[in-house]
Amino acid sequence: MAMRMYDIIKKKRDGEELTKEEINFFIKGYTDNKIPDYQVASLLMAIYFNKMNKRETLNLTKAMINSGETVDLSQISGTKVDKHSTGGVGDKTTIALAPMVAACGVPFVKMSGRGLGHTGGTLDKLESIKDFKVELSREEFVRISNEINIALCSQTANITPADKKLYSLRDVTATVENISLIASSIMSKKLAIGSDAIILDVKVGSGAFMKNLDNAISLAEEMVEIGTGFGRETIALVTNMDEPLGYAIGNGLEIKEAVETLQGKGPKDFYELCLFLGSKLLVLAKKTSNEKEGREMLVNTIKTGKAYKKLLELVKYQYGDTSYIEDTELLPKAKYVLKVESDKEGYIKSMNAEEIGKCALILGAGRDTKESEIDLSAGIVLNKKVDDKVKKGDVLAYIHGNNRGKVEEVKEKLKNIIDVGNKNKENKKLVYGEITNKKTKLF
Ligand code: URA
Repeated sequence: MAMRMYDIIKKKRDGEELTKEEINFFIKGYTDNKIPDYQVASLLMAIYFNKMNKRETLNLTKAMINSGETVDLSQISGTKVDKHSTGGVGDKTTIALAPMVAACGVPFVKMSGRGLGHTGGTLDKLESIKDFKVELSREEFVRISNEINIALCSQTANITPADKKLYSLRDVTATVENISLIASSIMSKKLAIGSDAIILDVKVGSGAFMKNLDNAISLAEEMVEIGTGFGRETIALVTNMDEPLGYAIGNGLEIKEAVETLQGKGPKDFYELCLFLGSKLLVLAKKTSNEKEGREMLVNTIKTGKAYKKLLELVKYQYGDTSYIEDTELLPKAKYVLKVESDKEGYIKSMNAEEIGKCALILGAGRDTKESEIDLSAGIVLNKKVDDKVKKGDVLAYIHGNNRGKVEEVKEKLKNIIDVGNKNKENKKLVYGEITNKKTKLF
């Protein structure tokens, strides 16, 4: 008897395992527009409640990879590494990490999608640099990667079309936050592009999909297992997203902060995260046998200016105006910059990253819908981090925007979001743990 979507929905509704054939049937049917949104939405909700086991998640990932093209990177020499973050506020890591790793002689070549978010993604951020071209042909991508060990571009190929449709549907049916669905969505995109080693930065906290550590670890374990199952060196770090990363949130503002980091003047937490992820990547790529040495190599790329020069090279090869890096004052500037001042003395207790992200979105720094235009100059630059001491009248943050009303609105909101009070009892952590296919290690 021919397979029917109705029976697949019913099976998952009743908590049973779906076979590989059933998963392939629904992914192919949905990609080919043969199965309607309402049936897939029902199945997603059944998956949300009844979950998928590891076998189902692996089969779902495979089916999604097979729904589109894959990208063969074998024409690029060396061990190619890739990094993926599950998404956070102020996360400009790729823009500093890629030049640091590439300056150590390891090819860091990355294709990204755009997605929705409180601020733009890596590609949007890079577009704050005048004339920077994120759309490269396959030939340009391979040539640039081989010549300078670094390329950051958009996905030109039709990669995982099933995920594109499914993710949009999940977004409007409250079915995003399921570990199997997130793991298969992210890993199908990563695995469709043939890098040799993958490091996953799984965020946990107020500004992340995963609000608690247990769920973040489960997601990390699931993704590492999928990556390893596909024969790729894959490891994950679970890192803090209770407060934004670094100080800057917003596209042009984050480019400025990434440039400063490469000049040795970056925020401590952000620089430290780059060193943490980077040293693991250098080990995965077999550039060094231990992380300590990897870290020294990375620090050296900053001290010698090699990482900064690598960014300049990237911008030049991707047709951008390098003067925007040499003089970051040229980056898009907002009409209004307002200060938020503290009306009391104490310590920064918390600053909810998700709420700050929403403020950046109000200012126009991100996309509300796929069609939204991003204001590359808008955003927030924090002046304090959690646990910092604060005096009355100290500036807590600067708000950059082009709409006076919205800047004022965000100012009022930030006064409540940035919580000043007694000193926190526990010290905050940047990295909570590391997950490999062999073990989960908590720090
Ligand atoms: N990012 C993705 O690409 N997919 C998800 O499901 C969640 C985050």
